[in-house]
Amino acid sequence: MSNEQVLILGGGLMGLAIAHHLARRGCSVTVLSRRRNEAAGFVAAGMLAPHAEGLTGDLLRLGQLSLERIPRWVAQIEADSGLPCGLRATGIVVPFKDAKERDRYATAAFGEALNRQRLEQLLPGIAPDWKAGLLFDQDGQIDNRRQLMRALESACVDRGVNFQEGVEVLNLLKHDGRLYGVRTRDSEGLLSTLTCTKAVLCSGAWSAQLLPELPVFPVKGQMVSLQTPRGALRHVIFGPGTYLVPREDGLVVVGATSEPEAGFNEGLTPQGQKSLNQGIAALLPDAVNWPPMERWWGFRPCTPDEGPLLGQGPIPGLWLACGHHRNGVLLAAITTELLADAITHQATSSEATRMLHAFRWDRFAD
Ligand SMILES: Cc1cc2nc3c(=O)[nH]c(=O)nc-3n(C[C@H](O)[C@H](O)[C@H](O)COP(=O)(O)OP(=O)(O)OC[C@H]3O[C@@H](n4cnc5c(N)ncnc54)[C@H](O)[C@@H]3O)c2cc1C
Repeated sequence: MSNEQVLILGGGLMGLAIAHHLARRGCSVTVLSRRRNEAAGFVAAGMLAPHAEGLTGDLLRLGQLSLERIPRWVAQIEADSGLPCGLRATGIVVPFKDAKERDRYATAAFGEALNRQRLEQLLPGIAPDWKAGLLFDQDGQIDNRRQLMRALESACVDRGVNFQEGVEVLNLLKHDGRLYGVRTRDSEGLLSTLTCTKAVLCSGAWSAQLLPELPVFPVKGQMVSLQTPRGALRHVIFGPGTYLVPREDGLVVVGATSEPEAGFNEGLTPQGQKSLNQGIAALLPDAVNWPPMERWWGFRPCTPDEGPLLGQGPIPGLWLACGHHRNGVLLAAITTELLADAITHQATSSEATRMLHAFRWDRFAD
């Protein structure tokens, strides 16, 4: 057990997950959260897909380490909150135009190779252009939008995490080069100074607004959900540019556009929604007739190599857990463990040390 006091800057997916983990270890934790519903944690499709995404190198390894930890991580959240997180072992199918393209896929060795006949068995109604596929049975999904985020919030409350909702961190305060606090503004405009010796920057796509030296920028994504005939889709389909994720309740979540040029421009666009419809038609033509239920958007926190920034930041006392781009839901379990171990000085494995080095914030200067 530890009696460390830690401020969490941002109450999105990483902020909640790290707050929960630290509180379980006995730390006294306060989460400062500007706006709950702008978090990408409420936007994501929730795919747990290191293999289907075709990740490579250290990012693939980080994803695999996280995937292994997810069942235990979810069990802890469910036990503390008493709420389900919506973890589903649906497997993910990646379709290809031909076997050559399939066999060249970065993670082909981790999947089951499918011919057209087997692809049709797994994905009835898939468009005829797709002649081959890979089934990644080990990949899955979690219902972050409707279940995981709420369960995490409740698990944090259960573990005594203090929430300051509607509180924006305006800047980080330093003394003798070390972090000593943050300046904040609440929803009524009241300015305050909170002192701390340890804080974790979990401000998602907005992280560089607090620390401009961090190479984190927003990549907007638009989504839509469809009501399906029950049981129409059993596996996630991960096509180029578009994916369909079947939830337990009969909804299929479809994503996502990738719009770095949009910056922080909010809202849906006709072009974005049209490209989702085109993606659906190219994968599963019948699905264009499934009624749309909800449309939404959000901002992925991206970095130049699309990997997260983890571990100690440029100011002593400030830790980083940001820049998870399109794999933050997948990477939440390993991120919380790496950060909690480092902050509470727990002994770590050599692989954990290697991962913190591989994803250090200043790696781009190399
Ligand atoms: C369209 C889309 C689809 C995605 N699909 C997947 C997927 O299928 N699988 C997957 O693994 N990942 C997916 N992701 C990625 C995943 O959602 C993100 O990587 C993850 O949510 C990042 O978590 P975070 O806590 O860093 O950021 P967020 O969840 O965005 O949270 C950041 C929080 O910080 C707060 N904040 C910002 N600045 C301040 C400040 N100055 N003061 C106080 N609070 C502040 C914000 O209000 C926000 O609540 C997707 C993302 C998008 C947008």
